[in-house]
Amino acid sequence: MANDHVKVRKGPVLDCLTCPLCTNPYREATTICVCLHTFCKQCICQNLEESKNNCCPVCKVFLGSFPEQLLR
Ligand SMILES: [Zn+2]
Ligand SMILES: [Zn+2]
Repeated sequence: MANDHVKVRKGPVLDCLTCPLCTNPYREATTICVCLHTFCKQCICQNLEESKNNCCPVCKVFLGSFPEQLLR
């Protein structure tokens, strides 16, 4: 049993339970209320900061100038 810190990829990812950015189970699940895609709070915040274009990383919907306000 040495898989405590190992990222295991087993079969199809459970889309409804895992963050598409880090492919891990959500930590502080945060949903974009425009398109209802969900990410870890940290992942979506970091992605928005790095991409600079304020779009959902999954469906590319534009989130406007203040994407933080669309996160729930
Ligand atoms: Zn994540
Ligand atoms: Zn989306």
